[in-house]
Amino acid sequence: KGRAIIVGAGIAGLATAIRLAVQGWQVQVFEINSYPGGKLSWFEQDGYAFDAGPSLFTQPQYIEDLFALANEPIQDYFQYVQSDVACRYFFANGKQVTAWADHSKFAAEMETQLGEPAANVHAYLQRSATTYNKIGKLFVEKSLRHWRQFSWKEVATAIKHSSKSLLMSSLNAYNEQAFTTKEAVQMFNRYATYNGSNPYKAPGMLSLIPHLELNVGTFYPKGGMISITNALHRLAEKKGVQFHFNSKVDRIIESAGKAEGVVVNGRNIMADLIVSNADVYFTYKHLLRNELAAKKVLKQERSSSALIFYWGIKTSFPQLGLHNIFFSDNYAEEFRHLFQTKSFYPDPTVYINITTKMESGQAPEGKENWFVMINAPANVGQPWSEWIPEARQRIISKLSAQLQCDVEALIETEAVLDPVTIEQRTASYMGSLYGTSSNSRMAAFLRHANDSAQIQGLYFVGGSVHPGGGIPLCMQSAAITVNLIQKQYKLKHVAHH
Ligand code: FAD
Repeated sequence: KGRAIIVGAGIAGLATAIRLAVQGWQVQVFEINSYPGGKLSWFEQDGYAFDAGPSLFTQPQYIEDLFALANEPIQDYFQYVQSDVACRYFFANGKQVTAWADHSKFAAEMETQLGEPAANVHAYLQRSATTYNKIGKLFVEKSLRHWRQFSWKEVATAIKHSSKSLLMSSLNAYNEQAFTTKEAVQMFNRYATYNGSNPYKAPGMLSLIPHLELNVGTFYPKGGMISITNALHRLAEKKGVQFHFNSKVDRIIESAGKAEGVVVNGRNIMADLIVSNADVYFTYKHLLRNELAAKKVLKQERSSSALIFYWGIKTSFPQLGLHNIFFSDNYAEEFRHLFQTKSFYPDPTVYINITTKMESGQAPEGKENWFVMINAPANVGQPWSEWIPEARQRIISKLSAQLQCDVEALIETEAVLDPVTIEQRTASYMGSLYGTSSNSRMAAFLRHANDSAQIQGLYFVGGSVHPGGGIPLCMQSAAITVNLIQKQYKLKHVAHH
């Protein structure tokens, strides 16, 4: 075939590299950092192992697909198990719910713990499956141009099959229709945060996300989330992909409307096609020096960011599981702070991920590795150095009250990641976790496409472009992009003859 260059070794860059190499392209990946994975990275501190970024693994099928495509036995690279509990929820009023993977058990738990009729839970999950299968699935598997140019009919048909409230109401309004208790509404509103959005603004369509978590399931990769990065990196190398770490791409070389190569360390490296896995805003601003196009990207609101404390905890908490949520007392106010005043709400929703619940070796015996995260506003230059210690104190007070112990005294080691360091380490504009938010009805259709309309041979993959952020969608962006490349090169080949 030809030579392909990928800018960035995030998971979408890795998946694209594998797919192109399998098709016979000579692939080179350039990455600023000394390691692959971008946001999906890892570190060890004082005997504790921490996944730095993502902690929830859904839709393992997309990882399986890459190994099948490459004709490599996945079990030699990557193993995972299905969890029997999706999440443990702790409400400000003291109520607790375990979200069992088993529907009957989960619905019964909602009824006994919250007084939410089990039938409402069953009905919701059924509608969620229909919405995903009729609309969501089509959307994430096809290119945006496909939707824009050819398929409005398909969209219209798909939407006809579902209730108007999926598009016309917010997720919160949709959930208020579906449930009788405020706790159930809060639980199902939280799914908007899976792509960094605001449930009071994002459309009811996001009610398809629980289908993926509660119908299809949640999974745990053996060795932690970093095993996903490691498996894809190894598979890419096996397929002949060349990696260049500590190698920042400074510019994409463009001539007469065609991408011709990249500049790395003052050297021009030429190729037949370029795929940028870097944030699309930075790709336009720095790599293409196109301020206008960069500005256009910003017309869409960025997703939220996060503040994370990685704590080595010197005891263990039997009441906690792999994923735990301690809800804020006022969710609407929390989101108003995050997206409108761009600040922290004083009683934030706290998420704790503890991988020692799944396997030993991630912390010293009898101790736990806590990944403690609250949603943070996008970085617009807030006084973080004042806000972060304040937020830390509030998290500690909240957890200490709920867990009835002095959490501060149990912290043996600590590291912090905040919107500024997320931006610095993964070149994600404003520290956004998921590129753009879905805080408008049409947001899904307004993300940047996977190919460039102006520059031939230039493509985009990853969380800041179609179909969106999160591991599964990043995997899909690689699949859609490589399909586009395949089609466009086939056409070119035919035209040449
Ligand atoms: P990134 O991971 O952003 O990688 C881009 C890469 O490009 C980086 O390595 C960067 O260094 C490199 N790069 C950028 N510019 C250049 C350049 N000029 N030259 C060379 N290299 C360059 N998703 C889930 O599915 N589940 C979760 O639980 C979850 N939780 C999250 C929690 C946190 C704290 C964060 C930060 C994210 C979370 N996500 C989660 C989202 C998920 O991590 C991302 O959507 C996904 O990892 C993004 O992958 P990517 O390939 O788009 O890019």
